[in-house]
Amino acid sequence: MKLTIAEIVRACNGKLLSGDPQTEITSVSTDSRKISPGTLFVPIRGERVDAHMYIPAVFAAGAAATLTQNHTAVADDEQARIAVESTERALQEIASYYRERFSIPIIGITGSVGKTTTKEMVALALSSQWNTMKTSGNQNSQIGLPLTLFQLEHEHEAAVIEMGMSYPGEMANLAKIARPMHAVITNIGLSHIENLGSQERILAEKLHITDAFTQDSILYLNGDDVHLAALREQLPQVRKIYFGTQPWCDFCARNITTGENGSSFTLYACGTCYDVKLPVPGTHNVLNALAALAVVKGLGGSLHKAQEALTHYQPPAMRQQIHRANQITIIDDSYNASPDAMKSSLDLLASFPGRHIAVLADMLELGAMEQQAHTETGAYAAAKKIDLLIAIGPRAKAYAAGAKQANPEQPVAHFESNQEACIFLRSFLTAGDVMLVKGSRAMKTDEIVKAFL
Ligand code: ATP
Ligand code: MG
Repeated sequence: MKLTIAEIVRACNGKLLSGDPQTEITSVSTDSRKISPGTLFVPIRGERVDAHMYIPAVFAAGAAATLTQNHTAVADDEQARIAVESTERALQEIASYYRERFSIPIIGITGSVGKTTTKEMVALALSSQWNTMKTSGNQNSQIGLPLTLFQLEHEHEAAVIEMGMSYPGEMANLAKIARPMHAVITNIGLSHIENLGSQERILAEKLHITDAFTQDSILYLNGDDVHLAALREQLPQVRKIYFGTQPWCDFCARNITTGENGSSFTLYACGTCYDVKLPVPGTHNVLNALAALAVVKGLGGSLHKAQEALTHYQPPAMRQQIHRANQITIIDDSYNASPDAMKSSLDLLASFPGRHIAVLADMLELGAMEQQAHTETGAYAAAKKIDLLIAIGPRAKAYAAGAKQANPEQPVAHFESNQEACIFLRSFLTAGDVMLVKGSRAMKTDEIVKAFL
């Protein structure tokens, strides 16, 4: 990227306190440890740390300029400082200004669960025919998304951007910054319901992803999701393409098989059928792959090439990575958890041969739904006839209770910490067992996976 300080000042309506307006900025960073010559540093005021304290250090490291919420002029300072009301807001405005330079299709990906996976699959499928930029990792927030946009370069022909939200108004803001021409909504679940109130409200918020749509835009929706399927007769102004297992879906998967060696299905789309193979298990991954195939077709690409590309898909770390250690299969899904993702992971566990052990830690951010969501997940695990449910954490007691209610014979054990659960598991696990490990990020269930690798 290349922007002059003068352009940046204009884009964010800032005030240049010191420095040369013609200086060129070639990267933007909010991380004081990731500075190189040409970097614009954006200090964010967080709850615990105010990154303004790192300004001297970033200049020492060679930063070209910094934004600042301190408006006091710095006399005779060579170092470029741009004063703004809010550094976060300014970051978004500069990113929005930069994004305006690109007229390539930008595809926004949102949904309660499956955003990162779908983003990866869409980007992989598009990369088989276009030079595609994608959000790296999980940078889907009010700060991550603007930073992502600075990765756009002139040789890019398409971009796939993950868009996450936790509070009302956030999706509208992200859509204003990234202005996606096309969008995928994976599902409407319960993530962040504490802040958003209801699934109807979550749907309404997520639909703001279409705020910058034009006549040529397409909205890709999961037809297997009841809330999204209900939009079929609504939003007449938006062109919609549905993917899913329902016979009426435009991109329909039939004959799905899924197991430890991956998945396969027949895709019915555009009047023909294709055999698709994925190296990852789980019906939810079939849906994510369908979204990728639909986007490629929607952009006028080749389904054949896209499907070939998907045979090389590899999941990101801690997201249903399958490990084998000492003849035990570990499904490492320790990255995060929500009620919907718990269900898809339990389905996946049940599809493997062997004794099934679900190691499930607390799910956070569920607000008033907390108790019910944990109880229902426990009941779901029992219905899947798993051999042992291990619940970890204070909220997880409700998994155990829910499982026992559903089936009084269901073996369950509750532990306060990952360490206690590991001690128990060491004596319990035997060759041939399959263990799913999952919980909210703060529960750090990756500790359990590491202990057994
Ligand atoms: P985050 O909110 O952390 O960004 P995300 O929406 O990006 O989450 P992923 O990281 O792609 O979601 O997936 C998280 C987990 O959700 C996966 O490991 C899997 O268990 C489950 N999952 C993935 N895709 C789907 C889907 N389409 N439907 C239901 N569950 C899914
Ligand atoms: Mg994600």
